[in-house]
Amino acid sequence: MKRVYNFSAGPAVLPEEVLEQAAREMMSYGDSGMSVMEMSHRSAVYEGILNEAIADLRDLMGISDEYEVMFIQGGASTQFAMIPMNLMGKNGKADFINSGQWSKKAIAQAKAYGDVKVIASSEDKTFSYIPSWDSAEFRSDADYFYICSNNTIYGTRFTELPETGNVPLVADMSSCILSEPCDVNRYGLIFAGAQKNIGPAGVTVVIMRKSLITDSKEENSTVLKGTPIMLQYKTHADNNSMYNTPPTYGIYICGLVFKWLKKNGGLTAMAAVNQEKASILYEYLDESKMFHPTVSGADRSLMNVPFVTGDKDLDAKFVKEASAAGFVNLKGHRSVGGMRASIYNAMPTEGVKALVEFMKNFEAHQ
Ligand SMILES: *Cc1c(COP(=O)(O)O)cnc(C)c1O
Repeated sequence: MKRVYNFSAGPAVLPEEVLEQAAREMMSYGDSGMSVMEMSHRSAVYEGILNEAIADLRDLMGISDEYEVMFIQGGASTQFAMIPMNLMGKNGKADFINSGQWSKKAIAQAKAYGDVKVIASSEDKTFSYIPSWDSAEFRSDADYFYICSNNTIYGTRFTELPETGNVPLVADMSSCILSEPCDVNRYGLIFAGAQKNIGPAGVTVVIMRKSLITDSKEENSTVLKGTPIMLQYKTHADNNSMYNTPPTYGIYICGLVFKWLKKNGGLTAMAAVNQEKASILYEYLDESKMFHPTVSGADRSLMNVPFVTGDKDLDAKFVKEASAAGFVNLKGHRSVGGMRASIYNAMPTEGVKALVEFMKNFEAHQ
């Protein structure tokens, strides 16, 4: 079976080299005589896999010793609860920018734990832009300030960060982590579900400033009373993500992806390729008479590119024909309609070029 060009928003395409290596190592990882899936997470071999994955991620993103790197389960959505549960025990307040459905869900969840202020929102125009913010609205006693860096559904991204002073900035980077260099020091906490731009579903990467990780048993802890042990960052930090059985195989694949990224020039090289891929697609969309991008200007995501024809039947015809031609998962999210091409790190430039050729041809023959 020939492989397709998979434009899924997530779970998403992975580098072929990584899949091939995983296949080679399926029956026996190294000389262990077993698959990584069958290994005790407490074995020296597996600990090596985990520690190497952490070290490679630190290296790729330039993560200093002031930060903890954790692999947690429950998807990015569990972080919507873990973040307030672990940070809101100080003043019980958090500020948010509402730039899409994922930040909206994070806001709804945080409201269960404290006083939430929405500083700015782009909901008025189906989240088709990043709202501007007035820093005079920021609360200096907020326990954290929350953004979603790249809005997977709407295809927008932050190109500037709010200046939050001493208030830790928390970012959901699920769909843009590792797509370009990132100054980790600007953040208190970064999290990302792996299934967009890292690896398989089931692993969430959390990068957290160590000083924000407090012990619920101590008086000045910011962890809310009653927070389950499994939902406390301290539990995962103290146990090198091995308090209980971590998602062992998923972490192994993430580790292979980190090595693939390092081998291919790291995040600077990745950013250049991602810029190129996105501009090939946006340039065509900007000139097409049939396909229209739903986001304009600087807020355009490099990872998720939504577009529409304005005609539902034509959209459906395009998605069907594209799929038959080997360009799959192009149907847009139901809240935007039309199409969406997700072009994460593992989508080769040839895939984007081939898609644009297909679109040009489709447009010419209607
Ligand atoms: C997909 C996604 C989520 C939700 O991830 P789950 O792992 O399914 O919980 C959250 N935030 C963003 C930005 C996403 O793209």
